[in-house]
Amino acid sequence: MQDQYGRKITYMRISVTDRCNLRCRYCMPEDIERLPREDLLTFDELVCVAELAAKHGIRAVKLTGGEPLVRRNIWELVAALKAVDGIEQVTMTTNGVLFSEYADALLDAGLDAVNISLDTLRPDRFLQITGSDAWEAAWNGLQAALRKNIPVKINCVLQSQINQDEWKDLAELARNLPVAVRFIEMMPIGAGADYEAVSEAWLREQLSEVFGELTPVKVAGNGPAAYVKPAGFVGSIGFISALHGPFCTHCNRLRLTSIGELKPCLCYRERIPLRGALRAGDLAQVEGRIVQAIRQKPKGHCFSDRAAVTEQRQMAQIGG
Ligand code: SAM
Ligand code: SF4
Repeated sequence: MQDQYGRKITYMRISVTDRCNLRCRYCMPEDIERLPREDLLTFDELVCVAELAAKHGIRAVKLTGGEPLVRRNIWELVAALKAVDGIEQVTMTTNGVLFSEYADALLDAGLDAVNISLDTLRPDRFLQITGSDAWEAAWNGLQAALRKNIPVKINCVLQSQINQDEWKDLAELARNLPVAVRFIEMMPIGAGADYEAVSEAWLREQLSEVFGELTPVKVAGNGPAAYVKPAGFVGSIGFISALHGPFCTHCNRLRLTSIGELKPCLCYRERIPLRGALRAGDLAQVEGRIVQAIRQKPKGHCFSDRAAVTEQRQMAQIGG
């Protein structure tokens, strides 16, 4: 289905939990309140929403959170979503810490691709950013994903005071590995508003000085990233420039929070609740609200004007 600006909405990010085994300082502050467990949608409810969304053109879903791998038996949801008529692709974004443990089950369930978030190659900095000493587990998760031969993307958020100087080492991962290393600009959502974004323009300048020409390439995916490949690289480097890039023109997504609200756009507080109607068995109403969410998508986000950002919750509560 198209929204009022002619954008085809084909992609839904499904948050399966607000819980996480890490505490990235820009996403999940220590004092974050947990959502009541009974408010989280069950797997059956999530699949039901996916079925109705597929009727209106959703073709790809990405599981996110919080950390999707802390949701018990998450591979069962992967398998159930893969079986939904119309859904062609089920992927996941994870911090990777539990990935090696669950890789077999996820791949058997049909997971099509994985994004692993890894902001640093240094365990001490990992501790500083995430509050956890699990760098090696995350690294092993990445290696396990590569061994499985599914498409792998690495998500990196640079922060000026901590890991900005790692742009080269992180980008170098794509020299010999078949991965897309993507630099995501920090978005002023929740605790993220306390940090400055490292701009794509700055990064491109550094990268081209060291790696030479950055040839634009196409990489399969559903998001707004732009990719380049320096000479001699096996993989690619991506930019997700929420603040400084033309992010919204091709926006194709809806977001479903873990408690069953549809968000037409990340930066505004508007959410369309589905859970009540779902639990009352009123699927016609749920379907109507999915259509409403697509119709209600705004033209663009407002991250360049922080005062206009009305979403007050943390990224982990929304679903990043
Ligand atoms: N736990 C999983 C993970 O880390 O990939 C999935 C959820 S996490 C919220 C999804 C992505 O959002 C991660 O790559 C994370 O770095 C990114 N993220 C979180 N807060 C952000 C912010 N304020 N600005 C930009 N990206 C953010
Ligand atoms: Fe957890 Fe992912 Fe947020 Fe980090 S970015 S706290 S891993 S949800």
